[in-house]
Formats: sequence, structure tokens, C-alpha cells
Amino acid sequence: MEKKILAMTMAICIALTIGFVYQGFRIVELEQELLFCMNCKDVFNLNMRLKSCTCGRSRGRYQDDLNASFKGSAIPLGFANKSFIAAIQNQPKEGPGRGFEAFVVESNCPTFKKLSDD
Ligand SMILES: [Zn+2]
Repeated sequence: MEKKILAMTMAICIALTIGFVYQGFRIVELEQELLFCMNCKDVFNLNMRLKSCTCGRSRGRYQDDLNASFKGSAIPLGFANKSFIAAIQNQPKEGPGRGFEAFVVESNCPTFKKLSDD
């Protein structure tokens, strides 16, 4: 079980690091929005193009620098970039890594809206 959680955490960190490189301008934002697919368990970040999880049941995108939307069986997540970047910068060579702040976005968030499925 711990190996599964560690593997998932590593996958999230790699995906977000790649996301920061790809979307370098977003690194200064206070939060980064992600989607967690309740069906396939993928966690993925968003950009201006429509992105989907592995199973295709969850998808979303940014409309602009502030607003995002999604469809499907996804739960919106947020990472506080300041604490996440601090955890990356303080990655230990051994032992447990530093935690960072993550949260589930409220279901009626005005800037991260769930759209009805087609
Ligand atoms: Zn999925």
C-alpha cells in the first residue's frame, strides 16, 4: 500500500514538474488546479488545450489565466504552489519528503466550473 502511495505521489510530482516547465508562467500563481478522475484515478494538470485522463471520462482546460472548466467524473484539486515548490526544493536524498498543501476545490467554485456532460 505504501509503495502504491509513493508511486502515485512520485507520478504527481513528475507530472507537475513537467507542467511547470511547459506552463512556466503559471509557477507564480498561488494555486494550480488539477483533476482527479474518480474512474481511472489519474491526477492531471490543465492547460489551455482540452486534456483528458487515461480512461477519457474526465477532461478539462483553462479558459484564461484564472478560469477553468471540466466535465466527467472528475474531482477538482488544488495545490498551493508556494508549499509545493518548497517541497520540491527541499527534496531529501533519503527519508520522507516534505509535505505540501493540497485541497479539494469546492463544488461551486466560480473559477473552476463543472460543465454538464454532452
Ligand atoms: Zn479517467
